[in-house]
Amino acid sequence: MAGNSFRGKLPPWIRIKVNCGNAREEVATILSDLKLNTVCASAQCPNLNECWHKHTATFMILGDHCTRNCRFCAVLHSPTPLLPDPEEPERVAIAAAKMNLKFIVVTSVTRDDLPDGGAEHFAATIRALHKVLPESGVEVLTPDFNEVREHLNIVLDARPSVFNHNIETVERLASKIRNRATYRRSLRVLAMAAEYGGIPVKSGLMVGLGETDDEVLQALRDLRASGVSVLTIGQYLPPSGEHWKLERYVEPEKFEEWRKIALELGFKAVASAPLVRSSYHAGELVKFARA
Ligand code: SF4
Repeated sequence: MAGNSFRGKLPPWIRIKVNCGNAREEVATILSDLKLNTVCASAQCPNLNECWHKHTATFMILGDHCTRNCRFCAVLHSPTPLLPDPEEPERVAIAAAKMNLKFIVVTSVTRDDLPDGGAEHFAATIRALHKVLPESGVEVLTPDFNEVREHLNIVLDARPSVFNHNIETVERLASKIRNRATYRRSLRVLAMAAEYGGIPVKSGLMVGLGETDDEVLQALRDLRASGVSVLTIGQYLPPSGEHWKLERYVEPEKFEEWRKIALELGFKAVASAPLVRSSYHAGELVKFARA
């Protein structure tokens, strides 16, 4: 990762862990044999080595092409992706069982082309995982479903352990960066999930995109007011020189300050550090949320 000019000089606190051993290859083989996508690879996650080494992976369902095109995101874009594979939910469950996962995160590309935005496919995946691994937690990190409550409820009715939808950035930057998604709509989707009840609601944002510290604090207040109880904050790392420009590296002390403020605001579980990503240590985080 070092040496990419669009990331400037990496500060000393951004160090990508390299793990030895066979676990990474084993996970890669299971995923490729079952023709599954992970956000770990598609989004060029800096924690991939660490997570795969620990047999943790975030499955990305509904294909590998997104109908949106957010300026920070490395996922491929297409207005007309392939139709969802109806056998994908079963294959995700088989992979999760082979990897003996205790906590599974399922996310997707955004599918504005599908009548239900992919909600039923999400629900089928949750049900398949509950059936094969009834003791394991399942977190879903979903798109905004264009704010259609019935579609959101299809996902929630399948009883994920955690509902996650990322706000990604502060209000001023959202319209420039998030393609068709909006800050206020994401807040309303999170509030709908919180109103549904009984399922912890999680969200997250990246910093380093040009936001001010005050705007970050406002985003935390807005998320809390929308019923979000689990929060992640991490450093933005541009995937390439074509993506949204990196504006700053935020120091670890600032992340820690935001973590403390978020807890004071009433969030039950907060992960805030440079290499935190939405699903990083997701299982551990939700234990705190339930406590
Ligand atoms: S909607 Fe999600 S997957 Fe699609 S481009 Fe935006 S961040 Fe990437």
